[in-house]
Amino acid sequence: MAAEKDKLTMATLDVLTYGFALTTDQGSFGYSTNSLLRVGNHNILIDTGPSSRRPFLVKALKAKGLETDDIDIVILTHMHWDHCQNTDLFTKARVLVNPTEIDYARNPNKWDLAVASGMADMMRNMKVETVSEGDTIVDGVSIIETPGHTKGHMSILADIDGEKVLLAGDAMPESGTVARGLPYNVFWDVADAQESVEKMLSASNVFYPGHDRPFRVEGDEINYLEGPENILVMDSTEGGGTASLTFTVSASRTVNVDIVQK
Ligand SMILES: [Zn+2]
Repeated sequence: MAAEKDKLTMATLDVLTYGFALTTDQGSFGYSTNSLLRVGNHNILIDTGPSSRRPFLVKALKAKGLETDDIDIVILTHMHWDHCQNTDLFTKARVLVNPTEIDYARNPNKWDLAVASGMADMMRNMKVETVSEGDTIVDGVSIIETPGHTKGHMSILADIDGEKVLLAGDAMPESGTVARGLPYNVFWDVADAQESVEKMLSASNVFYPGHDRPFRVEGDEINYLEGPENILVMDSTEGGGTASLTFTVSASRTVNVDIVQK
């Protein structure tokens, strides 16, 4: 893909909806980070999130003065449901996906149910373009392939204020990936996932992870840049069956290496 030259190349990066992940004794659950990268006159959305967060995404765009039609480029890190279910909102945009990932999403392993194969079919009617390692999307924004979590996972490297920032997706879902050297879910290949973490750490030290707040790696330290430190969980007493919640924090998270998420 040819690089586009922009007259105005100042880039800004904002998280629209923050990613998080919860491990519970009733199963695991997570929503992805969706970010808005503005470079010159381009409005680039990175990942579109799960359908249940659709109103949040639209509202977050509005807060930035944008309608869905103002997004001219959507980049999908991968085709898991929690990262791509709102892609159909962006009919004016070019949708950039790794060719391996789109092939895989159309023909996933039988038990890889996290792949939004319905969305892959729907995207046949959209302006989908394939991008791979080293491709420049706009000035200062390029693709870095980070397989392992899925077969065709990719991340985005962006120049922001003279610094390389990496929008990692689920190749680095949270800051724990740095110490562990592995994302907490590997649906495709452990060796690839490990290699991708090393590759990301040598490319940047500022990360926008798939399911955590943005952070900077400084030596052995992780320093969060911004984002909510608190998640409010709500219930009502109308039905009388309110469940109380217990929150515990462990030192590490077990890596799931299985096509079926536990
Ligand atoms: Zn994923």
